[in-house]
Amino acid sequence: MKIIDGHIHIGKWSSVFLDYGTNVSDAVSVMKESGIDSAVALPCDTFMNAELLGEIKSQSDFTFHFAAWINPEDPKLDSFIENNLNDIKVFKFHPSFQRMRITDEPYSKYLDIAEERNIPVIVHCGRWQDIASYTFPMEVAKKRKKLNVILAHLGGDQPSLCTGCATAVKESGLKNVYLGTESVREFHFVNEVVKTAGADRVIFGSDYNLGLPKMYIPIIESLKISKEEKELIFFRNISRLLSIE
Ligand SMILES: [Zn+2]
Repeated sequence: MKIIDGHIHIGKWSSVFLDYGTNVSDAVSVMKESGIDSAVALPCDTFMNAELLGEIKSQSDFTFHFAAWINPEDPKLDSFIENNLNDIKVFKFHPSFQRMRITDEPYSKYLDIAEERNIPVIVHCGRWQDIASYTFPMEVAKKRKKLNVILAHLGGDQPSLCTGCATAVKESGLKNVYLGTESVREFHFVNEVVKTAGADRVIFGSDYNLGLPKMYIPIIESLKISKEEKELIFFRNISRLLSIE
């Protein structure tokens, strides 16, 4: 089955991950040996947007869909976006690293651009509820109906957050909200999330270079759903958002 990895990182992390890093050619080999057809590539928390985009464009071995890391405090961000709008396929927001909620003012002009240009956004959701709760990006999605919002880590990478998020997504009835599976290893709860929110809301991701696709592909394969629903999770939902089908 075709697989698009909806969430990988390439580049160097800060001291949070002990300055660990990988480059594009590392990513190409891992993606190829994992049977991945293409991947949404995000930088790491050193915000090297220009470097990553340059590296991606200088190779032709593999298709990456470039995601710009939106750090409003990055002085180079606005000119980078302006000069590379056609190459930026996704905006990635990380409220925990930036210590601000996605609903906070500094993010709003970037959400405007994403909404206007039909660029899907990935919002990191985590356990820091005051800042990175899935409820904040859901508020954004409610207000901005044309903006497609992917809640990373199934809304928080913890069983109670993932299932709570799936229920909230279902109850909201929102059709512009998606749940990314990256880094969630508790397969039982991934199954619960898919049953609750529906396969049309879920997008596969591995969180490489922290995780490996081969760690997470079996979780989707093991879901108690039809082949057509697995196709939605593995590539159809993200393909639609990226307008590549
Ligand atoms: Zn990530």
